[in-house]
Amino acid sequence: MDAGVENLHSLCYVERRSRDRRSFRSALNLKLTLLPGDGIGAEVIVEAMKVLQAIERRFGHRFQIQLALIGGAALDAMGTPLPDTTIQQCRESDAVLLGAIGGPKWDGNPSALKPEKGLLGIRKALGNYANLRPARIFDVLAEASTLKRDVVEGVDLLIVRELTGGIYFGEPRGFASTARRESAKEQNDSTASLDAADSAFNTEVYSVPEIERIVHLAFELARTRNRKVCSVDKANVLESSQLWRRVAAGVAKEFPDVEFSNLYVDNCAMQLVARPKQFDVIVTSNLFGDILSDEAAMLTGSIGMLPSASLGGSTPLYEPVHGSAPDIAGKNLANPLAAILSVGMMFQYSFHLAEEAAAVESAVENLLSEGYRTRDLASASTPRERLLTCSAAGDQVAARLRSN
Ligand code: NAD
Repeated sequence: MDAGVENLHSLCYVERRSRDRRSFRSALNLKLTLLPGDGIGAEVIVEAMKVLQAIERRFGHRFQIQLALIGGAALDAMGTPLPDTTIQQCRESDAVLLGAIGGPKWDGNPSALKPEKGLLGIRKALGNYANLRPARIFDVLAEASTLKRDVVEGVDLLIVRELTGGIYFGEPRGFASTARRESAKEQNDSTASLDAADSAFNTEVYSVPEIERIVHLAFELARTRNRKVCSVDKANVLESSQLWRRVAAGVAKEFPDVEFSNLYVDNCAMQLVARPKQFDVIVTSNLFGDILSDEAAMLTGSIGMLPSASLGGSTPLYEPVHGSAPDIAGKNLANPLAAILSVGMMFQYSFHLAEEAAAVESAVENLLSEGYRTRDLASASTPRERLLTCSAAGDQVAARLRSN
């Protein structure tokens, strides 16, 4: 086994498609923490649990499932978006599955008491520096995309987003007020409130090791796929991107078997809708990855179809890409397939359970091939009897897993 792939195995036990296909066939006893969070987060996690139970029964594994609070739900119950007990419980687990956080109820909260602090905090606490967001088009859903079928059919790309650095975490940050600064004779007064501010600032910082480790991972993942990496930055304007580009080029030299290219983020945003099939692995910073992965989400027809994995650090975290969708929360209308496919990613990347991961994917694919659609995927031609609520979609996927 070459050193790069060995590193990847130690990081996430990724399945290698091309060689050394090993299957971990003994029954596993795994400790999983589920963080339902807010809005539809809680609804889709219930459906993911049905899938975990179906896999348990079919393959003989035992999942010790425990729930913990995060986001708005934790704020309401414990006064903090990320209780220490949640962090502790997650660290002691083999993997974590999160629903979604946030909602209008907490939008007016001060920054430290926003649900989003819980999400950023748990990724940081678990050391998850790499966010993997696949965008694969299920052929039967090509019509659900706003793009033409021939543009999206066959798209299978992976966005690798740096998750613990960049502008979301950089210091200094804050609001500034000229009046306060002059009276305090301070250069950066980050203590002004939003209401009193006449300017605001954030800082994008990346170190060489931070860039190296994420670009390395992208190359190692590309070796398990179609051997192409595109590094995305804004090196024509930003110094942090110039460093990113220099370091990425250095890492690329270690992977002569992988095709390497760079794109500016604005061009990448265009290329994703113009010719998405050109991409295999895209590696980029926290901010650019956040935006590009939502754009890639729409290639697939609905954000409700996109799973993600956050790797590196003490415990891997899996979550659907979507948010808490306050507009449909509590109505049993959410698409739970992104959360269910996140369970599939967990089997693939964390537990090397390729058969279980494939079983989850094909149960979802079969459901869609039979014409079933949740409301976000439905069109005028979807028959009423094929329209699924959130809970019915979870039941149907679990039933297909049990019957095979
Ligand atoms: P969102 O993803 O919650 O919703 C965007 C749109 O997509 C909405 O119309 C929603 O109904 C729809 N949608 C999302 N998921 C869906 C699903 N599974 N099935 C069907 N339709 C779905 O994004 P937003 O509206 O920008 O944010 C709402 C809240 O979620 C905010 O508080 C935001 O901070 C939070 N948020 C959380 C996460 C996360 O937990 N990872 C990510 C993004 C946004």
